[in-house]
Amino acid sequence: MSNSINIPYAHELLPNFKKFEPEYAKSEFDKILTANRLELEKLLKSNTTSWDSLLKPLQEMENKLENVFSPIRHLNSVMNNDKLRKIYNDCLIKLTEYTTELGQNTRLFKAINQVKKSRQFSKLSLAQQKAIDNALRDFKLSGVALPKLKKKRFKKISSTLSTLGSQFSENVLDVTNAWHLHINKKSKLKGLPPHALELGKKAAEDKNLKGYVLNLEFPLWQPVMQYAEDRKLRQKMYKAYVTRASDLGPHSKKHDNSKVMHKILKLKQEQAELLGFKSYAGMSLTTKMAKNPDKVLEFLTGLLNKSKDQGLAELQELKEFARSHGVKTLKPWDVAFFSEKLKLKKFNISSEKLRDWFLTDKVISGMFELCANLFSVEFVELDNISTWHKDVRVYAIKRSQNVIAFFYLDLYARANKRGGAWMDECRNRLRLDNNELQLPAAYLTCNFSPPVKNRPSLLSFEEVTTLFHEFGHGLQHMLTKIEVSAVSGINGVEWDAVELPSQFLENFCWQPEVIPMISAHYKTGKPLPAPKLKALIKAKNFQSATAILRQLEFGLFDIKLHMSFKNQDNFIENTLAEVRADTALLPAPKWNRFANSFSHIFAGGYAAGYYSYKWAEVLSADAFSLFETFA
Ligand code: ZN
Repeated sequence: MSNSINIPYAHELLPNFKKFEPEYAKSEFDKILTANRLELEKLLKSNTTSWDSLLKPLQEMENKLENVFSPIRHLNSVMNNDKLRKIYNDCLIKLTEYTTELGQNTRLFKAINQVKKSRQFSKLSLAQQKAIDNALRDFKLSGVALPKLKKKRFKKISSTLSTLGSQFSENVLDVTNAWHLHINKKSKLKGLPPHALELGKKAAEDKNLKGYVLNLEFPLWQPVMQYAEDRKLRQKMYKAYVTRASDLGPHSKKHDNSKVMHKILKLKQEQAELLGFKSYAGMSLTTKMAKNPDKVLEFLTGLLNKSKDQGLAELQELKEFARSHGVKTLKPWDVAFFSEKLKLKKFNISSEKLRDWFLTDKVISGMFELCANLFSVEFVELDNISTWHKDVRVYAIKRSQNVIAFFYLDLYARANKRGGAWMDECRNRLRLDNNELQLPAAYLTCNFSPPVKNRPSLLSFEEVTTLFHEFGHGLQHMLTKIEVSAVSGINGVEWDAVELPSQFLENFCWQPEVIPMISAHYKTGKPLPAPKLKALIKAKNFQSATAILRQLEFGLFDIKLHMSFKNQDNFIENTLAEVRADTALLPAPKWNRFANSFSHIFAGGYAAGYYSYKWAEVLSADAFSLFETFA
């Protein structure tokens, strides 16, 4: 790990989390909104039509707003509480209104269109031209060409949709936080690895309870699914997880997402129709690489046909293995459990034991070492930057002695933090009005197992690849050389290409030269023994068709929801059942309500875009193979 340093000016370039006051942030946000509206009027009155006099000030206005909103949005995701939630939602509505208002502003559209048509356009940089083209396209997608009443309706829908998305996330977070299972006897937890037991003990202590508490946070939920020998316990935890925020889940009436989901789909369809599209998928794909929904369907179905036989064979093998261990009918809550045992038998590799070699700090320093070589940069930890939680680390990226970017690393799961792993923008790279360069900054968020008593944080190999994945997103955002914020970093990238850099970087985890860089036994410091390293790489394709089929289930479900919406009560369930008939080789129970917590498409940016993972995987594999050839 690099020694931490103090870059005296760094805190001025990043949000001040130590002094972050939600009310103050909100009042700043309101002030900027008002100022921006006035500024826009001034710009339009001046009839100006050049990059410097029109688009640059617009970029500056947008940047000011984003810089105030980004910490509010981020903290709402990772340190959620009632006060922050209220302020976030309030700002979100105002921001959506403002954005739609801009997107529907005919005068602004005409002014930017003038820039496009003028002679100066060809003299602008490629980034500037692309930003203008994207902006003109987005005006149309905001309904700039609609008659007045339809414009109003479109705007109203946009507001409602952002509120519904937020409500969806809140419901998932609330039920995840609210559910727990208290267990007194250790014997009930037979099979659980020591760190999970420690976590369970700590969760009980936090609630002033004796014994153990299990919850739906990943570091506890997953070990139960993988290792708990008590089949009924696994079933209970599985059911609690897959019925979250549904009519069947805990706290069902208050936090049921069913109606929210239906409303979201219905309103998206209405917006698409207002703009003359047949479906929301059709509308959404105008900004993506895939030409139309049928092409996406064709792509996913093609993969499905190629993976199904292998998937069936994998399932058959697992069923037989479970049968030999006394389980006649394999159920979904048995899959992770027996898969883990089967993997151990076939490859002599245990996911849990493997953790001992993947000390979090070692993985991070090895990943930095690798990326330093790949991209000619240096990573340094900063010690003078305030954050929102004591576990969060802050780093600067340097190239040729110059700081070029910053990022926050928030690694561990905790209550009131949204599940999963993601990268979000903290600052965009752009050339400011005063000619200074605003450096890009990123939030990298994971939900890994925290350190427990007498044991540091150790990652499973899946978590290692997750870290690389998010870091790949982060690098795309941070290593950008573009100075126009609308197209710098991950901005303006077609959504189905967004998963390219992330999956590209994941590939390195499996390289025999890279594994020794990111691993060493946490007690002895000894490298991963050669047979284990070989087995790890060999096991890469273990149950790979099963994993592909699962991604295809999500991707097909998503695209079908958004390309053939029907305003019928059971539309979502019927669509899921239809997709599952093709993709889920092991039938899911009728009470499985996974869609109710499928935040990617209902509250993230993946609506009619979940196929991106598979689509971009093809691109990333191509990119990586070139890398191998020329390395
Ligand atoms: Zn990703």
